[in-house]
Amino acid sequence: MKILFFGPNGSGKGTQGAKVKEKLGIPHIETGVIFRENISAGSDLGKEAKGYIDRGELVPDSITIPMILDRLKEDDCKNGWLLDGFPRNLTQAQELDKALKEAGIKLDIVIDMVLDRQVAKNRIMGRRLCVNDNNHPNNIYIDAIKPDGDKCRICGGELKTRSDDQDEGAIDQRHGIYYDTETGTMAAVNFYKDLSAKESVPKIIELDGRPGVQEVSAELMAKLSE
Ligand code: AMP
Repeated sequence: MKILFFGPNGSGKGTQGAKVKEKLGIPHIETGVIFRENISAGSDLGKEAKGYIDRGELVPDSITIPMILDRLKEDDCKNGWLLDGFPRNLTQAQELDKALKEAGIKLDIVIDMVLDRQVAKNRIMGRRLCVNDNNHPNNIYIDAIKPDGDKCRICGGELKTRSDDQDEGAIDQRHGIYYDTETGTMAAVNFYKDLSAKESVPKIIELDGRPGVQEVSAELMAKLSE
């Protein structure tokens, strides 16, 4: 199964993505995680990406698009993948569509997690990252995933904040890109909705991001099984 997962920063997309990965046994490919791992490792890619990420800007398409298209060619992607954080603008959507069509790969599902901009912003500022595993969800403002004191609720690991999570200007910048229906991420979502209307694939799953983690997850799993 090949799936794209859309949702604004703060919608809980990463948390739900980890559940989908577990249910379907496919790799969960998160562009943001790939960039952050490269920054931690001090790689050339990380050095190049850091400034853009700290400012809440997109890393240029010339870096991001080949990075993801190469990742999708790796062995673990043969039976499917869940792509999270890509495409992030209309150009990336068009380039991905072109590359998949050229490779004869069908995109099965597009998940569109819908959440109000202000709610998403509050959630981001409460987010905490586990140093042991980026997929361990912790948020000081969400009861279901509140940290255990100041430690990760899953493994007891140290928690840290992402520098771009505590910067309101950077959050507004990222959301400006997400909610932009002209060339931004919503334009990419609409690109797939139009494609779905024309070609009957991919299937579009719209998800209300407001309820708690468990409710959203139940709705998502039910819709994936339809
Ligand atoms: P995220 O973890 O998804 O919030 O991503 C963190 C940051 O990584 C973003 O604010 C961008 O600077 C960068 N990034 C993630 N995905 C993309 C993408 N598809 N295109 C360009 N930059 C990206």
